Amino acid sequence: MTTTRTVRPSTGPILDNPDIVLIGGGIMSATLGIMLKKLNPDFTIQIVESLPRVALESSHAWNNAGTGHAALCELNYTPQQADGSVEISKAVEINEQFENSKHFWAFLVEQGVIKDPSVFIKRVPHMSFVRGKEDQEFLRQRFAAMRKQHLFGEMVYSEDKAMISRWAPLLTEGRPSDEPIAATRVESGTDINFGALTQQLVDYLISLDGVELAMQARVTGIYQKPDGRWRVKINSETEGKRKLRAKFAFIGAGGGSLHLLQKSGIPEGLGFGGFPVSGQFLVCTDQDVIERHAAKVYGKAAVGAPPMSVPHLDTRVIDGKKALLFGPYAGFSPKFLKEGSILDLIKSVKLDNILPLLAVGRDNMSLTQYLINECRKSHSDRVDGLREFFPDAKEEDWKLVTAGQRVQIIKKSPDSTGKLEFGTEVVAAQDGSIAALLGASPGASTAVSIIIEVLEKCFPDEVKTEAWQSTLKAMTPAYGENLAEDQARYHELRSKADALLQIDAATNAKSE
Ligand SMILES: Cc1cc2nc3c(=O)[nH]c(=O)nc-3n(C[C@H](O)[C@H](O)[C@H](O)COP(=O)(O)OP(=O)(O)OC[C@H]3O[C@@H](n4cnc5c(N)ncnc54)[C@H](O)[C@@H]3O)c2cc1C
Repeated sequence: MTTTRTVRPSTGPILDNPDIVLIGGGIMSATLGIMLKKLNPDFTIQIVESLPRVALESSHAWNNAGTGHAALCELNYTPQQADGSVEISKAVEINEQFENSKHFWAFLVEQGVIKDPSVFIKRVPHMSFVRGKEDQEFLRQRFAAMRKQHLFGEMVYSEDKAMISRWAPLLTEGRPSDEPIAATRVESGTDINFGALTQQLVDYLISLDGVELAMQARVTGIYQKPDGRWRVKINSETEGKRKLRAKFAFIGAGGGSLHLLQKSGIPEGLGFGGFPVSGQFLVCTDQDVIERHAAKVYGKAAVGAPPMSVPHLDTRVIDGKKALLFGPYAGFSPKFLKEGSILDLIKSVKLDNILPLLAVGRDNMSLTQYLINECRKSHSDRVDGLREFFPDAKEEDWKLVTAGQRVQIIKKSPDSTGKLEFGTEVVAAQDGSIAALLGASPGASTAVSIIIEVLEKCFPDEVKTEAWQSTLKAMTPAYGENLAEDQARYHELRSKADALLQIDAATNAKSE
C-alpha cells in the first residue's frame, strides 16, 4: 500500500538502486510517475531534473499555448481532401485522447491528489475562424462532417458577422463589412496551465514513500549494464558526480530526450534526428482589450508553415490572471531546450542520422523558406499578421515573448531517406527496459494516452494482469473503450470528469 510522508523534502538524496528513473521533471514524467506508483505502490522512483524547479521547460505555462487540444478548433487536424470533403479521423483520435487526460485528472481530484483543479484548468470556448469564400466553404464542410460525430456535437457554425461579433468582438471590429468570414465555436473548450498541473502531480509524487526528486541534477550519460539495468550518470549541484542503477528508465527530458536516447545506444533509437523550432507570441498589454476577448480562436496555417504554427488569438488564464496572446511565430535557435546549449543541434548529428537530416533539408524547402521569413519579421510585420484576426490591433499594445523550444522529429523512412514528423513518438527498447519520448505535438494535452503507450510497450506482461487492468481502468475509465462509437458512455464519463474538474456548464454559470 502507498504511504505518504508528513514532511516533503524539495530535493532528497539520490537513490542508488531505484526500480524506476524518470529523467526530466515535466508533465510526461510526472504522469508516468503517478501511474506507476498507482499500479505498483512498492516501486521506488528517482526523478532527476536539471533545473532548480520542475516544469520550467515546455510544460511551463508561458512556454506553451495552454490549449487543451481536443481538436475542437485546430484546423490542421481536419485536412481537406481532393474532392473537397474534410477528413476528421485525426480529430476524433485527438478528442478521445484529450478525454482520457481529463478522466485521469478527474480521478486524481477524486483521490485528493489534485486539491483545486481551477489552479490548472479553465473553461475557455474554442473557435475556428476563416476569411474568404474558399475557406468559408472549407469550414462549412468541416462543420458538416464534425457535427455528425457526437464528440463534436456542441459545435455551432456561423457566417454572420453579428453572431461572430457576439462570440468574439475583436474579430469583427474594423473589418470591411463585405469580407466573407466564418467561424465555429465550442463553448466547452479549455485553457490549461500544464506547469501548475505538473507541480501538483510532482508534489504528490514526492510525498509518497520511495519517491525522490533531485533538482539541479543533470543526467550526463546512460548505458545498459550486462544485467539489463540502466546505469545513469548524474551531475548534481548538491551531490557532485553520482551514478544510479535502475531497472527501468524513462527519458522524459523534452528537447533533451534525443541526446540521451542517442547515448543509450539502443538500436531502436538509430536514425532519429531533431530539428528545433522556437515559438514566440505577441502578448497584449492593454487590459481593456484583454477583457474584451474570451476564446481561443484558431485560424489556418500559412502556406509552407508547419502544422504547429497555426495562428491563434488566445485567451489564457495563468496564475488566476487573464492574458491575451497571439502567435506562434516561429524562431530559429540551435538549442534543443530553452535552457539548452547552442551546440545541441550540431551535437545531435551522428553517422546514423546524417542522411535523414540531409534528406529532410532537401525535401522541405518551403519550411526553410517559411522559417527564414518568420525570422526576418519586424514587430510591425507581426502585428500585421495579428490584424487578420483583430483588425484594430495597435502595435504599441503588444510585446513579443519567447515560449518553449520544440524539437521536431526527423526519422528514417522506408520510401525515402528521411522524414520530418510533427507528432510525438515513444521510442522503446525491445526488452522494455527504457523508453524515450520525442516530439511535442499534440503534446501535454494527450500526455495520458502517450504514457499508456509507454506502459504497454515497456510493461507488457504486467499490463495484462488483472491487477494492472483494473487499476488502469480506475485511472482512465475509457481504457480499452471507443468513445467515438459509444455516445452514452462518452457523455457519462465526460459529465463526471467535467464536474470534478469544475469545467462543466453548471459550475461555470455559477462562477460568472
Ligand atoms: C511553443 C509551444 C506551444 C505548445 N502549445 C501546446 C498547447 O497549446 N497544448 C499542449 O497540449 N501542448 C503544447 N505544447 C507541447 C507541450 O508543451 C509539451 O508536449 C509538453 O510540455 C512536454 O512535456 P515533457 O514533460 O515531455 O517536457 P518538458 O516539460 O520540456 O520537461 C522536460 C524536463 O526535462 C529536463 N531535462 C532535460 N534534459 C535533462 C537532463 N539531461 N537531465 C535532467 N533533466 C533534464 C528539462 O529541464 C525539463 O524540465 C507546446 C509546446 C511549445 C514549445
